[in-house]
Amino acid sequence: MGCSRWVCIVFVLHLIYPGLVDSNGFSDIPKKLLDFAKKSEVFDWMVGVRRKIHENPELGYEEFETSKLIRAELDKMGVKYKHPVAVTGVIGFIGTGEPPFVAIRADMDALPMQELVEWEHKSKIPGKMHGCGHDAHVTMLLGAAKILQEHREELKGTVVLVFQPAEEGGGGAKKILEEGALENVKAIFGLHVEPHLPIGKVASRSGPVLAGSGFFEATISGKGGHAAIPQHSIDPILAASNVIVSLQHLVSREADPLDSQAYFSAANLFIRFSLGFPEVRILRAVVVTVAKFQGGGAFNVIPDSVTIGGTFRAFSKESFMQLKQRIKEVIQGQAAVQRCSAAVDFLDKDKPFFPATVNDKDLHDYFQIVARDMLGTDNVKNMNPLMGSEDFSFYQEVLPGYFFFLGMQNETLTKLESVHSPYFKLNEDILPYGAALHASLALRYLLEYQPKVSLLEHNHHDEL
Ligand SMILES: [Zn+2]
Ligand SMILES: [Zn+2]
Repeated sequence: MGCSRWVCIVFVLHLIYPGLVDSNGFSDIPKKLLDFAKKSEVFDWMVGVRRKIHENPELGYEEFETSKLIRAELDKMGVKYKHPVAVTGVIGFIGTGEPPFVAIRADMDALPMQELVEWEHKSKIPGKMHGCGHDAHVTMLLGAAKILQEHREELKGTVVLVFQPAEEGGGGAKKILEEGALENVKAIFGLHVEPHLPIGKVASRSGPVLAGSGFFEATISGKGGHAAIPQHSIDPILAASNVIVSLQHLVSREADPLDSQAYFSAANLFIRFSLGFPEVRILRAVVVTVAKFQGGGAFNVIPDSVTIGGTFRAFSKESFMQLKQRIKEVIQGQAAVQRCSAAVDFLDKDKPFFPATVNDKDLHDYFQIVARDMLGTDNVKNMNPLMGSEDFSFYQEVLPGYFFFLGMQNETLTKLESVHSPYFKLNEDILPYGAALHASLALRYLLEYQPKVSLLEHNHHDEL
């Protein structure tokens, strides 16, 4: 068979260094995938997808158009998927269809808020906005799908793409798991855009990275009456105020008063960390915020009852459950001091408790290697844990998972607003980084974590 010299050389090189794996082993893969994601045709396509999603934001479990757009893009790429999962969710598959399975996840939902950024692709739906960057998360996962599909011959297993609904309080991750979509998956990766971290940098940590969170609501009942003769009333406003002050004491006692500072402003309590916080103290740090206080409607009437509500957060299950118990005791105890009664509801039927987001140690080490190979050692940062929460934590309760933050601040542009601000703006230059990191983490994971059992079996067969 005729074979020109060059074709033969390329063929032999391909056998020695097939595709993405070259003489440096796996270490060039992340950079090559980032270059691919930055190519103008890939970048422009991602920007277009993101803007389309941004214009049409949908709330949790209502992401029907977003889901349709995801499926249309996967169809164009020839990627197979399951739908519907958890109402609007889409689970895609790229690779051999065989184990090992590794998952990469994006959340799809928007927030019930009015966008105040004036630009060409502003939200077209009044009162709804992609103010948390989930439009970018979906786009990055589609970007990763494109990269992986392009390199599918080199996947030594299967990448599971998780397009998840309802992260903002709806517990979409929990529903995805309940529907059995992640059975046999060995590891899962997720990311969040971060406006205060420079573009091209990532940050995360091993262990707890985001808090577990829950909500509470209490109705404190007394006996209303004329404000001029309070001695004839049983005043629930007074009781509720004492509850809030006592919750402040509770927080400063539960946390370590030596290493943390408790702040009290209006009805808002929170703990601030100092850098280099020892792990054991992180596990003990807690937050309680009373954000809702509804009493009477008149200047001269003591109401019959007051409703207060808020959120509580902690980094370990133990601290979380202890705090929950103490909140109930403090509310009921302080109400009783003022001769009121109190009913406390933790609302966990409608708003499930989010566990703490706890990063697997081995995946942290693995992430550091992949991210450093792509971005350089100086651009891979360790961070202190944050009191925010993420439903990605539900995945981490059943399988090793890793969650990290991806920077997008460009020092030469105006400072970006925080997520959940009506002025939140996305720096679209972030899209290739997210897509390439997702793709690199998944592709290299499959190369590096081939199941030992099958290797042994393989050797065994070889001997036979
Ligand atoms: Zn959010
Ligand atoms: Zn978010």
